Amino acid sequence: RIAYVNGQYLPHRHASIHIEDRGYQFADGVYEVVTIVNGKMIDEEGHMERLWRSLGELQIDAPMKAGPLKMIMREVVRRNGVVNGIIYLQITRGVAPRDHPFPKNTTPALVMTAKRLSMDKSERTAQAGVNVVTVPDIRWDRCDIKSVSLLPNVLAKQAAKDKNAYEAFQVDKNGMVTEGSSTNAWIVNQDGKVITRPTSNEILAGITRASLLRELEKKGVEFELRSFTVEELHNAREVFLTSSTSYVLPVVKVDEHVIGNGNPGSISVTLRQIYRDFMEDAS
Ligand code: PLP
Repeated sequence: RIAYVNGQYLPHRHASIHIEDRGYQFADGVYEVVTIVNGKMIDEEGHMERLWRSLGELQIDAPMKAGPLKMIMREVVRRNGVVNGIIYLQITRGVAPRDHPFPKNTTPALVMTAKRLSMDKSERTAQAGVNVVTVPDIRWDRCDIKSVSLLPNVLAKQAAKDKNAYEAFQVDKNGMVTEGSSTNAWIVNQDGKVITRPTSNEILAGITRASLLRELEKKGVEFELRSFTVEELHNAREVFLTSSTSYVLPVVKVDEHVIGNGNPGSISVTLRQIYRDFMEDAS
């Protein structure tokens, strides 16, 4: 495997970052994960826009313009021979003697890796459906920034893993579901309405979420953008999640509650197909 690190393509095992990189010391950086299907990036522009927004909110300079960045992404995909998989891209404020305020004249650090993901495995997971647990949302007020500061998300995902679940949906202080540790949360209520939380500072504006909503609009599938309670989640007709690595993934159990008959719901299965068709068309 080949990694890109600050201007160089290096064997993955030799790629490294300075010990005083602010990403390492302060989690002072942002990232993106971009899906690759048939060798092509899905929603490249959406990811670029979100990346620039995250950088802007943290006042980190972009290490280069979007054009050259996209060329490096393509090169990382090519050098790793990825046909279906993901690109991971990380930008930190750079290297400086440890001190909390922004350092002056620091060059941001850019790292990229790519890896293959098996479509077959993804499909098998989707056909079985996954389990989800709920955990309190203990994150900060800027979950709209795709920051590498992910400890609460790490703890949430581990809590899920400890219970043999795929994902943890986080719940805010009002008992409303925010999102998964690395996914957006959706329900189909007993009236058959597709529901997901509106974007705000409390969740990450998922690129998969946005593309699925666009496809639903095109197809005239009704949806509601509103928060939903844990109770609604437990009693939903269907539950699913979205992300760049999971696409649209049916959920068949939430905490102790079996969803529907314990198999992926028909709407979730259809929406996954709609999203997969969208990716095929885009690739
Ligand atoms: N929510 C969080 C907290 C995430 O970390 C992610 C992805 O990593 C998502 C949602 C899904 O976003 P996307 O569809 O852009 O992958």
